[in-house]
Amino acid sequence: MFGKPDYDALAIGAHPDDVEIGCGGTLAKLARKGHKTAIVTTTSAELSSRGDTATRAKEFAAAAQILGAHTHKMLDIPDGHVRASQANKLKIVRVLRELRPRVVFTHHWVARHPDHQHTCELVQEAFFLAGLAKIDTGQKPWRPYKLIHYPNRYEFQPSFVVDISETFATKIESIRAYHSQFHAADMEKYGSVQTAISHPAFLDHIEIRARQYGIYIGAQYGEPFLVRENLAIDDPVALFDEKCWYTVP
Ligand SMILES: [Zn+2]
Repeated sequence: MFGKPDYDALAIGAHPDDVEIGCGGTLAKLARKGHKTAIVTTTSAELSSRGDTATRAKEFAAAAQILGAHTHKMLDIPDGHVRASQANKLKIVRVLRELRPRVVFTHHWVARHPDHQHTCELVQEAFFLAGLAKIDTGQKPWRPYKLIHYPNRYEFQPSFVVDISETFATKIESIRAYHSQFHAADMEKYGSVQTAISHPAFLDHIEIRARQYGIYIGAQYGEPFLVRENLAIDDPVALFDEKCWYTVP
């Protein structure tokens, strides 16, 4: 109906660093498998307490390269004021039609940061609208196959967990690429304001969460995801094997 996809996976976050924290291990794993991936942010994080937008853009580019993303871009929706307006929906529709991704990852809708919540809402709506031929952006319509949510600060009961044991170090490397945001030897260069994420314990929290979800699937590290629809399984016998003995209920 819509023709062929171009990208395999597109991850959308409100700010440069959200995707790396939410699904960086999975993106790195997908890239290693040969999938074509992209990262898009709705804002350029100009309200960030530390650093500036030029630094953040450089850090974003470095993180995207570490994760093996084929494309990365920042949209121009104002930081702190992401809303599901008609103009903003069309910005996401254009991205979806340009990249034609098979699957899209974005924030879960329950979030402490309003931009995360509203980016989720924007992407959910654009996901549907991008498939409507009469919404004219001068591009062919496209509807990705599945919208997949990664967690924010609040956790959820996941639909599935991806084993990221092989790419957890790459995920951390992509997060550490944001020298202005997370604990680093040169962090004083980017301002003296301490934030929740500039504290060294924040990186420990990322590791603890990845270990927690790893335990649930019998792996060293895992990333949880949620899809709203039921997942169809063709052969439940082939799906389960002795590895299931080692998972915690
Ligand atoms: Zn954010």
